[in-house]
Amino acid sequence: MIVLNLKLVLFIGLLLIGVVLYGVVTAVQQRRRQAHSGLAVVSSANLRQQLATAPFGLLVFNQQQMILYQNQTANRLLNNEALAELRQDVALAYGRASADGYTMAHTHVLNLPEEQTLSWWLCPLENGALVWLEDLSAQRRLEKSTRLFLNSLSHELRTPLTAVLAHIELLRAPDLPDAIRENSVNQIHQETNRMARLVQDLLTLSRLESAGPLEIRSVDLTLLVEAVVADFILIAEEKEMLLSLQADTALPPVLADPDRLRQVFINVLDNAVKYGRAGDKITIWLSHTPPQVAVLIQDTGPGIPPQHLPQIATPLYRARTDVPGSGLGLSIAAEIVRQHGDQLRISSHTEGETGTAVTFCLPAQSLKT
Ligand code: ADP
Repeated sequence: MIVLNLKLVLFIGLLLIGVVLYGVVTAVQQRRRQAHSGLAVVSSANLRQQLATAPFGLLVFNQQQMILYQNQTANRLLNNEALAELRQDVALAYGRASADGYTMAHTHVLNLPEEQTLSWWLCPLENGALVWLEDLSAQRRLEKSTRLFLNSLSHELRTPLTAVLAHIELLRAPDLPDAIRENSVNQIHQETNRMARLVQDLLTLSRLESAGPLEIRSVDLTLLVEAVVADFILIAEEKEMLLSLQADTALPPVLADPDRLRQVFINVLDNAVKYGRAGDKITIWLSHTPPQVAVLIQDTGPGIPPQHLPQIATPLYRARTDVPGSGLGLSIAAEIVRQHGDQLRISSHTEGETGTAVTFCLPAQSLKT
């Protein structure tokens, strides 16, 4: 009886050991499979939390291209079209990878409508695939605007250079009549001045973008604008235009970098005078709209055609080429206003009561007593 019971105990013991061993082996295999499927990467709750808001997208697919895990960035970046393309890429990669032993990760760039560019790095694993997703849209937009800028710059420089070279060629001719010689010299002078102005404005813009922080001070805006108006009043009078300043009497000082701020008024007034016609009026309004001081520079000139308005402050963009200019005045002004925490707003009418209005705000200094 006792012998029988001992055999039973031994049998049950062996059975239990077998079950435990089987459990351990299956668990180890399961962990191995998870590690291979990439799930191990996201199986820790803490890591999952960190990855949820990571600045790159992360996805784990199983063999059937089902998503086992995706973080918030991936969720935000992938629309239906991108997801379908990604699934297809996972299937293809998985098919290829089984032949090459899962060693071939690859990168794929997808251009979507509305200038969206996604790039993913796909790593096929035995039981699925791991995908790192990046949004390249901003980088691509920057590359595009740099290309456009360089294009415009080459064009802006090529026109005066061609004229200068042509006049130099003309000056080489023997027995050139004095009048033609003088005209050529004047043209060369004019065109080289144009290039020098362009280069100067480009330098100003690039210094603004790379210069250190603003030298913010308490600035008496009325005094600053009065000084700029004094510089322009004669030029305006010569063109039979009326330039005036309307400032609130109790205007508080503003917090601004006076040198850069002066440049904004110079550039905007320069345009108003340059594009204005005899009889046009230019008025600068300064008003206290707590906690800011609002600036409005309004002219009754010919205005800017509406199709040009969206790009008007883009570097080198010009709506009129019949009047000399670098196409950088408004971009410089816009950059300075941006550095002061606001945007340069430009509205314009070319029909009815024509004219252009440029507005922006500056922080008023609170005068505590
Ligand atoms: P530009 O050197 O050509 O004047 P800006 O950047 O200062 O360059 O201005 C860009 C374009 O905006 C100009 O080419 C001109 O067509 C238009 N513009 C700017 N201000 C005015 C204005 N007050 N009235 C009419 N057109 C203007």
